[in-house]
Amino acid sequence: MAARGKVAAFNLPPLPTVGEIIKLFRLQAQKQLSQNFLLDLRLTDKIVRQAGKLKNAHVCEVGPGPGGITRSILNADVEQLLLVEKDPRFIPGLQMLSEAAPGKVRIVHGDILTFKMEKAFPKHLKKNWEDEPPNIHIIGNLPFSVSTPLIIKWLENVSKKNGPFIYGRTQMTLTFQKEVAERLTANTGGKQRSRLSIMSQHLCTVENRFVIPGQAFVPKPEVDVAVVHFTPLVQPKIQQPFELVEKVVRSAFQFRRKHCFRGIETLFPESERLKKTEELMMAADVDPTLRPFQLSMSHFRNLCNTYRKMCEEDPSLFAYNYREELKQKKRQHLPKSTSQTEQTE
Ligand code: SAM
Repeated sequence: MAARGKVAAFNLPPLPTVGEIIKLFRLQAQKQLSQNFLLDLRLTDKIVRQAGKLKNAHVCEVGPGPGGITRSILNADVEQLLLVEKDPRFIPGLQMLSEAAPGKVRIVHGDILTFKMEKAFPKHLKKNWEDEPPNIHIIGNLPFSVSTPLIIKWLENVSKKNGPFIYGRTQMTLTFQKEVAERLTANTGGKQRSRLSIMSQHLCTVENRFVIPGQAFVPKPEVDVAVVHFTPLVQPKIQQPFELVEKVVRSAFQFRRKHCFRGIETLFPESERLKKTEELMMAADVDPTLRPFQLSMSHFRNLCNTYRKMCEEDPSLFAYNYREELKQKKRQHLPKSTSQTEQTE
């Protein structure tokens, strides 16, 4: 483990501070892009320490911005650092960091949501899924509007062993709005237990490491932030396709405060809803009067396994979409004159 307060032995040559870089390149945070910077290197060191030992590691930092976390990663003596930054204003400052650590940094001006992670690292780093995680890490402090869709995409990649997980069980250290971090890590019965809790915990060991108070950022965001660490599990807790798990979990949490059967019902067309819901709950051994947040991982596993069997018996079932059925019903019930107007438009 790195010594307390220190990331590792490598030291960057003297450089302007992150604050000076911001002034030098006029990198004022853009509020509409939710840019909030970390200037305190003790804090960025602490974030980077959550990733574990990074000596000789290959790291991808997402959204490096003015480069605070970037410096801490470089000080941890990594082998290679790939930076993916969407805002071109930050590229010159990142190039300055790259020159201070010759041969270590690759800068990509691009969007992490579309960047092809399967080609980002050398092939020789690949590990078998069952082995220890590869020496590859993803680290990032992204805007909240990006970090949530991104983790959902990466969870799907974990499930399919593609994207950054083509290399094995790549670990991730990412920041989230504190409430989102609480949802990611909530246990059965917890106030924040939600779709995100099941989707993340069935695929990864998820740890909420520490909270960064909003005032540590420049400018200060409205909310606090938490650092979350993910290690993909060797065996997912629910061994069913991502889309199927997603559908069951999304349906179950559809009516948070109601009995769970109210959400589960929406998996089935109206004509057979009651019968099929009863069949599913019985076979999965789930008490229909539990609230969605009271359902454990093994409840969800049973629900997904049983729903899979039902889909195999009735191949049209998986395509059934509750919201579509609602929309169609609404259309049918529109007054005639309105539906005629719609048709002629
Ligand atoms: N990491 C820096 C820090 O901690 O000070 C900056 C954090 S700021 C909250 C988020 C950064 O992510 C900004 O630099 C922003 O331009 C970048 N960013 C936003 N969306 C992105 C995307 N889709 N792909 C890559 N970078 C993105």
